[in-house]
Amino acid sequence: MGAGFAGLYAARALAGAPVQVTVVDRRNHHLFQPLLYQVATAALNPADIAAPIRRVLRRQRNAEVILAEVTGVDLPWRRVLLADGALPYDRLILATGATHSYFGHPEWAGVAPGLKSVEDALEIRRRILTAFERAEREADGERQAAELTFVVIGAGPTGVELAGAIAEIARHALGSDFRHIAPERSRVLLLEGGPAVLPTYPEALRASAARQLQRLGVEVRTGALVTGVDAEGVEVAGERLAARTVLWAAGVQASPLARALGTPLDRAGRVRVAADLSVPGHPEVQVVGDLASLEQDGQPVPGVAPAAIQQGRHAAANVLRALSGAPALAFRYRDKGALATIGRGSAVARLGRLELSGLLAWLAWLFIHVLFLIGFRSRAAVILQWAWSYLTFDRGARLITETAEQWRPRPGAAGPASRAG
Ligand SMILES: Cc1cc2nc3c(=O)[nH]c(=O)nc-3n(C[C@H](O)[C@H](O)[C@H](O)COP(=O)(O)OP(=O)(O)OC[C@H]3O[C@@H](n4cnc5c(N)ncnc54)[C@H](O)[C@@H]3O)c2cc1C
Repeated sequence: MGAGFAGLYAARALAGAPVQVTVVDRRNHHLFQPLLYQVATAALNPADIAAPIRRVLRRQRNAEVILAEVTGVDLPWRRVLLADGALPYDRLILATGATHSYFGHPEWAGVAPGLKSVEDALEIRRRILTAFERAEREADGERQAAELTFVVIGAGPTGVELAGAIAEIARHALGSDFRHIAPERSRVLLLEGGPAVLPTYPEALRASAARQLQRLGVEVRTGALVTGVDAEGVEVAGERLAARTVLWAAGVQASPLARALGTPLDRAGRVRVAADLSVPGHPEVQVVGDLASLEQDGQPVPGVAPAAIQQGRHAAANVLRALSGAPALAFRYRDKGALATIGRGSAVARLGRLELSGLLAWLAWLFIHVLFLIGFRSRAAVILQWAWSYLTFDRGARLITETAEQWRPRPGAAGPASRAG
C-alpha cells in the first residue's frame, strides 16, 4: 500500500518472483519529494518530478496498479479496506508515509501550507508569486512590506531549502520584472524553535548552513518558538511579524492509516515495528518507510528516502524468504549521509565521514539527485532546466494558474491606470 519510495522499491524488488503484486496508491504518480521545493519555487514543473506509477511498473508483468484510497486494514481477515471495496492479501507491505503535523494547531494548516504533494507545491508557488503581484499594486508601505515578507517555520532540510530558494527568487529571478517594488528588498525569515538550523547535521555543517543562508539574505532566528499563525502573519516569542506568506516546514506525523492497525505507535503516530519490519504478532504484515518506527543502536532510523528505499527492498526480500520457508531477517539501515541544498552553488553534505559545504556539497547534491531520478522520463529535462536556471538565474515555471479574480488583489489597490495618471 503506497507507491512512494518504500512501496515502489518493494514492488520492483519482487519483479520476476513467483508472486502476484498489487500496488495501491490514492495518487496515480510516484513523487520525488526531495525536489518538491523546486516546484514550489518555480524552478521545475510538476511532471519533472512525478512519474505515473503504471508507467514505472509497465514492464513488470507480475504487478498491477490500483488507484484507490486505503482506509484500513482488517488484520484478522487479512483484507485491506479501500474507500470503495476491499482487497484480500497473503502478505502486506504498508508504506503510506507521513503527513504534516501542526503540533495541535490544525487551524494553522490553511494559512501556513506545508510541502508534501504536488498540490502543496503548486499552492506554495501561487502564494509566493501572487505576493509579489499584490505588492506591486499596493500603495500602503506597511501592507507592501507585509506582502514582501516571507516566513518559513522550521529549519530542517525542507525549511532551509524553501527559505534559500525564496531569497534567490527575490534577489535574482525577479530583479528587473517589476516597476513599483524592488523584489530584492523582500524579507525572508527562517524561524526555528530549537537551538540550530539543520538540527540533525554535525555542528560544523549547521554553522556553515546558517552562514550560507545569511549570505543569501535569509534572516535566521533560532530558539524562535511560534505561538500564533494567521492570515496576517505570525507571533513568535511574544513578537508580531506581519507577513502575508507563511510556510510550514516544522513537523511530520505518520499517515492516519497507522492508527487503523490498532498496534502500538510512537509519539509521531508511526507504527512500532519489530526488527524484521513486521507488525508484532503479524509476521505477514510489514510496515516500511516514513510510516514505520524503528530504533537502531539506540537511534531512530530517520524518515529519509534512502531509509524508505532500503526498507522497501528488505520487506520484499523477507516476503521471498517466507515463500521458501526461511525466517525473516532483521533490517539494518546503512546510513550513506545527508545532504541539504541552500541555494545556487550552496549546500551542506555529510557523506560517510566526509563533511562538505558550499560549491562542492552542492555539486554532490546535484549529482546524487540526478542519479536517483534515473528511471524518470524527465531526467534529461531536469538537467537542462537546472543548467538553464544556473546560467541565467531564471525560474522557468513561474506560472500562476489562476486568474487575478481568483486570487484577488486587495480592494482599492492601485491599478496600472492610476499609476500612469
Ligand atoms: C518536501 C520534502 C523534501 C524531502 N527531502 C528529502 C531529501 O532531500 N532527502 C531525503 O532522503 N528525504 C527527503 N524527504 C523525505 C522522503 O521524501 C521520505 O522519507 C520518503 O518519501 C518516505 O517514503 P515513503 O514511501 O515512506 O512515503 P512517501 O514517499 O510519502 O509515499 C507514500 C505514498 O502513499 C500514498 N498514500 C498515502 N496515504 C494513502 C492512502 N490512505 N491510500 C492510498 N495511498 C496512500 C501516497 O500517495 C504516497 O504515494 C523529503 C520529504 C519532503 C516532504
